[in-house]
Amino acid sequence: GGDGRADIGVTGLAVMGSNLARNFARHGYTVAVHNRTKAKTDTLLEEHGEEGMFVPAATAEELVAALATPRRIVVMVKAGDPTDAVISEFAPLLEPGDMIVDGGNAHFEDTRRREHDLRQKGVHFVGAGISGGEEGALNGPSIMPGGSPESYTTLGPMLETIAAKAKDGAPCTTHIGPDGAGHFVKMVHNGIEYADMQLIAEAYHLLREVAGYEPRQIAETFRTWNTGRLDSYLIEITAEVLAHTDAATGKPFVDVVEDQAEQKGTGRWTVQIALDLGVPVSGIGEAVFARSLSGHADLRAASRDLPGPGAGTPLTPDAAAVFADQVEQALYASKIVSYTQGFHMIQAGSDMYDWDIDLGRIAAIWRGGCIIRAAFLDRITAAYDSRPDLPSLLSDKRFAEEIGTAQDDWRSVVAAAVHHGVPVPGFSAALAYYDALRAGRLPAALTQAQRDFFGAHTYRRTDRDGVFHTLWSGDR
Ligand code: NAP
Repeated sequence: GGDGRADIGVTGLAVMGSNLARNFARHGYTVAVHNRTKAKTDTLLEEHGEEGMFVPAATAEELVAALATPRRIVVMVKAGDPTDAVISEFAPLLEPGDMIVDGGNAHFEDTRRREHDLRQKGVHFVGAGISGGEEGALNGPSIMPGGSPESYTTLGPMLETIAAKAKDGAPCTTHIGPDGAGHFVKMVHNGIEYADMQLIAEAYHLLREVAGYEPRQIAETFRTWNTGRLDSYLIEITAEVLAHTDAATGKPFVDVVEDQAEQKGTGRWTVQIALDLGVPVSGIGEAVFARSLSGHADLRAASRDLPGPGAGTPLTPDAAAVFADQVEQALYASKIVSYTQGFHMIQAGSDMYDWDIDLGRIAAIWRGGCIIRAAFLDRITAAYDSRPDLPSLLSDKRFAEEIGTAQDDWRSVVAAAVHHGVPVPGFSAALAYYDALRAGRLPAALTQAQRDFFGAHTYRRTDRDGVFHTLWSGDR
């Protein structure tokens, strides 16, 4: 800072906080650093002190005293109670106009509560979703800050400096919206990440079980896909993982990893909130359930003898290559549906909480730094640019055309999966969503009639306004 004091403070110096502090320092900011356990502060200074201007602070009071005003403190501690504890420690030391930035994976409802509480004291609270893991925090993450527009006028330029840059040079951060908007969007980002990973896993499973490919061949296939419209970080690392050989056994690495997926909870939050908002994010839901199912080892062991389809004849190399191309189509179509659902959820959250989120900008700031970064996101931005009130990504002409081209192969792939007994909850849920949206009439009419029959829940008619109930039978 101009007065010799630090531009920004970071408290919580585990891997994320340290890397973020180093990122600020490497960009020329003076960074005051603090951690509950002082040893971590010392380690940061010892190992990376020469990377920039750090001011170590042993206590919260020292951190606050080290900062230029208005003060900006980034909190990077464990989400939940620890974040509340840290806020309670710093809040009494701050003055109106100062700012607390929570960069942890907070639940957006917590962020709304904290923002509301701190606003009473005139302190800006910015809940900022940060994606990209530890590598992103150091070299440029995608940052999703919420909070007041005023907070972004001073904080924004700093975040834009340390954020990832998209291929066109644009920083991967923007003011998302008031209070919990940033953490909400980060949550949906993680949900979409779950869905992307599930779809890729299903593509792998199909290439292995139906096409009969070995992991190395599948890695090659993914590498090829990565030069086309599926070009993305997740496809790229999947190819690397599949090409990797386990040093101890010489086997494909993927074959020595226990097949039980874990989760930290942001995918689950996405589905829980989607249920509350009434948004059908079936792709994210299936992805969360697929991880959950994989972890039920006892249930799976008890089910292993259940009958499945007979072993089919293996595909010829030519037929396998054709099938692989079909899987690419199915993966791309399912991915469009998955993003359609995710953006629907962001729109619904924005409507519910009056956040006024710009959906095209969200796609733009996911193009770099974060786990779901992909060439594909440019198309989403373009879709919202050409029509800001787009009812759904599927109503964009280009996406509709692409899915139209893909749909025959998509159906063949889902049919082949069913035929071979390979579970594809992501592919098939995406297809069901697509077909349900297309349908002229849905069997929901029957559902309504049933509800009226057993519960007098009433129904509306196609030919007249009003609410109706039928007297079904006198003797029930
Ligand atoms: P973490 O393991 O989640 O948290 C460790 C840090 O929290 C340490 O600095 C620890 O201080 C501090 N802490 C815990 N309880 C505290 C308390 N009651 N009072 C004060 N400090 C307390 O660290 P992380 O993996 O670096 O993640 C930080 C945040 O970023 C989390 O919210 C996480 O969800 C989020 N995040 C992580 C990633 C990732 O890839 N790891 C990516 C995006 C976001 P001590 O050293 O004193 O124990």
